[in-house]
Amino acid sequence: MSVKFRKLALIGIGLIGSSIALAARRQGLAEVIAISTRKAETLEEARELGLGDLYTLDAAEAVRGADLVILCTPVGAYESVMRDITSALAPGAILSDVGSVKQHVVNVLAPLVPAGVSLIPGHPIAGTEHSGPSAGFAELFAGRWCVLTPGPEVDLAQVEKLVQFWEAMGSQVETMEASHHDMVLAITSHIPHLVAYNIVGTVADLEAATQSEVIKFSASGFRDFTRIAASDPVMWRDVFLTNRDAVLEMLGRFSEDLSVLQRAVRTGDGPALEAMFTRTRAIRRSIISAGQETAAADFGRPHEATPPPTAPVFVREHGGGDDA
Ligand code: NAP
Repeated sequence: MSVKFRKLALIGIGLIGSSIALAARRQGLAEVIAISTRKAETLEEARELGLGDLYTLDAAEAVRGADLVILCTPVGAYESVMRDITSALAPGAILSDVGSVKQHVVNVLAPLVPAGVSLIPGHPIAGTEHSGPSAGFAELFAGRWCVLTPGPEVDLAQVEKLVQFWEAMGSQVETMEASHHDMVLAITSHIPHLVAYNIVGTVADLEAATQSEVIKFSASGFRDFTRIAASDPVMWRDVFLTNRDAVLEMLGRFSEDLSVLQRAVRTGDGPALEAMFTRTRAIRRSIISAGQETAAADFGRPHEATPPPTAPVFVREHGGGDDA
């Protein structure tokens, strides 16, 4: 018998919040799901999608009586959201979140958490480049990791309840220190996004004629960067503003390695390039064997049988062609 909360309050109902609502409903993890967000039109969209049982623009009202509260807004909004809900948090409640950085979240939330409330920050390592309430789907967390970063003072029974909640939604759960999470995610997620934003930004600055060729020939690799670079601008702004130290540390290493590659290209050092590319290929294979990616070619994109190139159509000046 898995865990069941009396009232789950989701503050912010975009991709992650709506996916939690759908997965929690499907698995029967809460008797009541209360939803709150900033804009009336987003709340209305959530209501139309039937994501919860109670909808309100007043975050404190959503939180009142909840035994599990999960912040699902961009991290930059946490402080103001927290000030709105602090007095409504009930003793015995778990306060969690889904933010992509963790030390900053602890720094901002911990001083405002009332006595008797367990702060257990979380981060589901799952997502897409889409945003908003209609982007969510119940299977988002299936087979994905969720990292929890409880402080040493937190009651282990509360941590266990949250672990069961995420496991019931299909995740595997690992706990670690917030600062360690930030270092690991800087290299596995934040730097890749920065690199993608940079490559796509470089193209955006190219003159129009070259740009149209980039789009035409994008399947040669570029388009896979554009998926990442289409991620929500506000969310990612907040990630880089709040995980600055870990990102700069990893960016330093990245730049050093890039210089080594640059040198190998300049000096025509084939063995160095081949050795590097062999090591990176092995990393992709281990991600596939860990079940974090499909082994299908081209990320499993469907490839229909390619029709033969269309023969050029010659229009005869006086009509009456073979097909007429
Ligand atoms: P999203 O689809 O853009 O949704 C964000 C939600 O937060 C919306 O409901 C938005 O509502 C609300 N919101 C925005 N600013 C607000 C504010 N100042 N006050 C109150 N509500 C506000 O974002 P998401 O992708 O679900 O990301 C949410 C969190 O999950 C972020 O902290 C992110 O770091 C984390 N995360 C994201 C991913 C991913 O791949 N996307 C993966 C893992 C974790 P309104 O329309 O009403 O403003």
